[in-house]
Amino acid sequence: MEKIAVIGGGAAGYFLAANLGKEIGKHTVIFEQSLLPLQKVRISGGGRCNVTHACFDPLDLVEYYPRGKKELLSVFYQFQPGDTMAWFEERKVELKIEDDNRIFPVSNSSLSIIDCLLKEVEKNKVKVNFSDGVKSIRKIEKGFELETSSGTYQFETVVVTTGSTPKFWKNLKSLGHKIISPVPSLFTFNCKDPRIEGLMGISFENAEIKMKSEKLENDGPLLITHWGFSGPAILRSSAWGAIALNEKGYKFDIQINFIQQTKEDVVDLLHNKKFDDPKKSIYKYNPFDFPKRFWISILQYCKISEQLVFADLSKKQIDLIAKELTEAEYAINGKSTFKDEFVTAGGVDLKEVNFQTMESKLIPNLFFAGEVLNIDAITGGFNFQACWSEAYIISNKLKDIY
Ligand SMILES: Cc1cc2nc3c(=O)[nH]c(=O)nc-3n(C[C@H](O)[C@H](O)[C@H](O)COP(=O)(O)OP(=O)(O)OC[C@H]3O[C@@H](n4cnc5c(N)ncnc54)[C@H](O)[C@@H]3O)c2cc1C
Repeated sequence: MEKIAVIGGGAAGYFLAANLGKEIGKHTVIFEQSLLPLQKVRISGGGRCNVTHACFDPLDLVEYYPRGKKELLSVFYQFQPGDTMAWFEERKVELKIEDDNRIFPVSNSSLSIIDCLLKEVEKNKVKVNFSDGVKSIRKIEKGFELETSSGTYQFETVVVTTGSTPKFWKNLKSLGHKIISPVPSLFTFNCKDPRIEGLMGISFENAEIKMKSEKLENDGPLLITHWGFSGPAILRSSAWGAIALNEKGYKFDIQINFIQQTKEDVVDLLHNKKFDDPKKSIYKYNPFDFPKRFWISILQYCKISEQLVFADLSKKQIDLIAKELTEAEYAINGKSTFKDEFVTAGGVDLKEVNFQTMESKLIPNLFFAGEVLNIDAITGGFNFQACWSEAYIISNKLKDIY
């Protein structure tokens, strides 16, 4: 019987193998169903790989995980973004922290991360079987029997790092694990509305998105796209609302505050304009610091005549404009994939995993890391961080065992 099988050569599987050292590495086999490993890492972060996030306190870090928040705390106390940075930098991958705290390789290329992981896995003498998908897994007396594309093998220990592959979840179900149904987590919102038509590319520095039916509020930059809304504020809303929005068939209403001022503040500001700039054309003078095209679109939507000057604004018109900027209702009809990063909520039920070791509570010597678990985060490098941390913990446990 062989010692360790890692099923899946993605971020979690490779980071685990990269941390095993030669002694254990030479008794480890990675089974990867495709011809090449680390394919998601390659396309991650728009090809730049947002490897982690500059948030170094586990208590703050877990707040970015709609699913896994409670469980990941002990995981991050063992290995957090500072450790990730040190790990890659010790292996000569220079990293940089961008203004929004996302961390990327200085090369701006995911290949730097991939090359590093490939090198470490090779150094550890881990065997990688490409085009060798695991079709089934069966518990036997002293370990596991795997049926793969190339044959049948027996291993003492199995680490499952298959990502969000529904097929493999079925195998885990047959071992007795509960699988939370998968739903997409990071996506953008489709919206066809005259107020944003033709305004793609306009962004708002800090907008607030409310989904009243879900009692959810998220803020951050907002972007108008040619299909609706995107940007961090939307992606956060999609992650926190993933399950509820799926249940609604992605048809729901949102309320947007584009400028993070209260409606009353905007009413006061416009009211003051009547006296401070009475003769200024409302269409030509935009008192806010978002692009004029959006201002004009809102004025047209509120049926304000192009000839009006500020002095002409009625109380009702002021109220309408203020509502459109701070409490605007938009109907969302569908979702689109966010190309830089998308993940799936759902997977192995967290109640069935011991987060001190990442071992199954139901089956000894069976471990999980990465997206196969019911863990996901908002965009920003948090999804990879969960993979690195979980895989690191398993590598330590395996060093204890072997
Ligand atoms: C376009 C895109 C961009 C992203 N960008 C970022 C980013 O910048 N930052 C970030 O933090 N996160 C990002 N993510 C999310 C991140 O990629 C995932 O969270 C992460 O890759 C999960 O790692 P994993 O090892 O669990 O699964 P994966 O990386 O999906 O790897 C699983 C591997 O298992 C293999 N496999 C599956 N089933 C079997 C089987 N039966 N037998 C053998 N092999 C099998 C698969 O072929 C695959 O290679 C992005 C995701 C996408 C899709």
